[in-house]
Amino acid sequence: MTFQTQLRIPGPTPLPERVVRSMSRPMIDHRGPEFAAIMAEITAGAKRVFKTSNDLLLLTSSGTGALESAIANLVSAGDEVVAAVCGNFGERFAALAAAYGADVVRLEIEWGQPVDADDLAAVLANHPKGKVVLLTHNETSTGLTNPLRDLARVAHDAGRIVVVDGVSSISSILIETDAWGIDVAVSGSQKGWMAPPGLALVSVSPWAWEQQARARSPRFYFDWKENKTWAERGMTPFTPAVGVAFALQEGLRMLEEEGLDNVYARHARLARATQAGLGALGFQLFAQEGFRSNTVTSALPPTTLDVSALRKLLNDKYGVVIAGGQGKMTGKMVRIGHLGAVAEGDVVQVLWAMEQALEELDIAPADGRAVAAVTASLQGVPA
Ligand code: PLP
Repeated sequence: MTFQTQLRIPGPTPLPERVVRSMSRPMIDHRGPEFAAIMAEITAGAKRVFKTSNDLLLLTSSGTGALESAIANLVSAGDEVVAAVCGNFGERFAALAAAYGADVVRLEIEWGQPVDADDLAAVLANHPKGKVVLLTHNETSTGLTNPLRDLARVAHDAGRIVVVDGVSSISSILIETDAWGIDVAVSGSQKGWMAPPGLALVSVSPWAWEQQARARSPRFYFDWKENKTWAERGMTPFTPAVGVAFALQEGLRMLEEEGLDNVYARHARLARATQAGLGALGFQLFAQEGFRSNTVTSALPPTTLDVSALRKLLNDKYGVVIAGGQGKMTGKMVRIGHLGAVAEGDVVQVLWAMEQALEELDIAPADGRAVAAVTASLQGVPA
């Protein structure tokens, strides 16, 4: 019997009760003072999370829309754009630039491996024309966090505009947008921000603004300049996702009440525990050690296991929803999300349910191994 679905996918993430309640109110005028105050609070709070004093734009879209806005505002058809691709979301970012006519130079990395700063430096040296570099902070499809500080430094030192997909990292994993030389960083409300999908956050450096003024791609809904002009008056150019703004305001308050350092430490703790539990169940962690993500864990199942059967059983019988693989890893991998409003007991629960399900699928006896491994990890016992 399950009473509540446990969303253990890497977004949308579970909503805390406070966030749910924040949305249970009448609609307001999106051009009135109440919305302006909410927007100001979200913008200021998000800047603290991004660690930036650059402009922070609020777009009504999913994360992909905000990534598209970066291409539309920074890239002209025919421009050389360097994209580091180490998974499905890197692929998508590169495809997005290509859709705008960019000449995309791909630094291709085997899935599960991080982008190497020396490799990036070499590609940039061989391609001196491109102004824009596209990086993925947390590659959600492989459960891997790239060494963003190093990659951004290399790209920045090479005189490039550094654009970062931080959709599934920012607010859960440390980023220092300004200190690391990141010109544009993007995140989405449905990830670590503990809000529903619908709002995206984009930080834009002065240098990116200069490029924005030069770039010639068609843009209308996602025109950053329009967005900034309206933001200065406490509004968005078009009707924003007001209900999501209520939620994002509350989610941000909760992040700041917990303290960002504590939030990051919690995510790291949950990641380690998930890794320990999956290892005890005979899964092979997919991402290279040292670069495993604190927001999502990817793992290859024991060879005899049908991933879709496992996910179906978890969902139908235990109310636990986990993700499968994406792109070329579809059907071959499990991914467990542990970002946003997720606590220790939630990790115990998902691994307990997996252990039961594996027994029902005749893969392994449910002898408490996974829960024991999770518990030991949470108690700080070395694996
Ligand atoms: N980039 C990364 C790293 C993501 O994890 C996601 C979503 O999971 C996206 C981009 C796309 O975001 P959205 O689905 O909000 O468009």
